[in-house]
Amino acid sequence: MDLNTVTDLVPTADPADWREGDAWLAGGTVLFSYGSQTLRRLLDVTSAGWPALTVTDDGLEIAATCTVAELYAFPEAAASAPVRGTWRALDLVRPCCDAFVASFKIWNTSTVGGNVATSLPAGPMTSLTAALDGVAEVWGPGGSRRAQPVAELVTGEMRNTLVPGELLRAIRVPAAALRSRTAFRRLSLTNLGRSGVLLIGRLDTPDDGGELVITVTASTRRPVQLRFPAGAHPGAAGLAAAIDAAIPSDLYHDDIHGLPAWRRDMTYRLAEEIRTELTSELLDSTTDGGRR
Ligand SMILES: Cc1cc2nc3c(=O)[nH]c(=O)nc-3n(C[C@H](O)[C@H](O)[C@H](O)COP(=O)(O)OP(=O)(O)OC[C@H]3O[C@@H](n4cnc5c(N)ncnc54)[C@H](O)[C@@H]3O)c2cc1C
Repeated sequence: MDLNTVTDLVPTADPADWREGDAWLAGGTVLFSYGSQTLRRLLDVTSAGWPALTVTDDGLEIAATCTVAELYAFPEAAASAPVRGTWRALDLVRPCCDAFVASFKIWNTSTVGGNVATSLPAGPMTSLTAALDGVAEVWGPGGSRRAQPVAELVTGEMRNTLVPGELLRAIRVPAAALRSRTAFRRLSLTNLGRSGVLLIGRLDTPDDGGELVITVTASTRRPVQLRFPAGAHPGAAGLAAAIDAAIPSDLYHDDIHGLPAWRRDMTYRLAEEIRTELTSELLDSTTDGGRR
């Protein structure tokens, strides 16, 4: 696709440099495939040299410029690091990366930040980071800084709360979410197709509060989170009622990758599978504990 109105490529990740007609450029897999008749300059954020992934005392910081390939490699690298064995939720990283069903080019160039900022319902980096209660750090042109959960930053199909000039700097994933037990479910209408439904369940450890969180993406226009505190985990009927309440029928996405009615039915089905998987393991471990 042509970008023949663009006259400059500027290596910067400073929002103070942003002006009308600019776009942040990360991997470019969206910018160069969708094209534009209005852009004048591309501000190349990959020039910032931010470390892709940083383990902190609070959890994991994923730079906006972290590529899908770098993220995919992380669980293996982390296996030999001090977090080994405790960040069970890293099991989600690879299925979420695989949900791109990506070519070599997309895999190695597209970024976590570019995916979240594009805000497609089937954005697997949105699914991953929203499900793990990731919080986006956003830099504004006037030197402002703000933080917002990814689940709230993405507000609809290709819509989000970023205003012109705002830069997504990083996503911070809290350690408590990384310690949780998770369940992943994804459906597509074709073998190598885009996600039509992608649900992730998370059961926090008792020490971290024991909350059950089910995050619905791809089937809905924006992420929807269902949260159940310890002691109030739902049964099948309670879960269905929670989905009824949280997802009105017009929130189900409608495009070539799936009809809303199918996405809705599969959302109920996969959510129930996740509930059963995570809460029955809880009962099993309680029972085992009792036997011991
Ligand atoms: C064949 C193919 C298959 C694809 N499959 C999928 C899919 O299954 N799911 C999906 O979600 N996408 C898919 N995409 C779209 C795209 O590849 C991904 O969304 C990718 O993650 C975008 O990242 P990028 O770094 O290339 O973004 P870019 O193209 O560089 O940028 C995308 C948008 O985000 C903005 N942006 C980038 N970085 C930042 C930042 N740090 N702060 C603020 N704004 C920023 C840009 O200005 C631009 O508007 C596909 C694309 C292709 C070509």
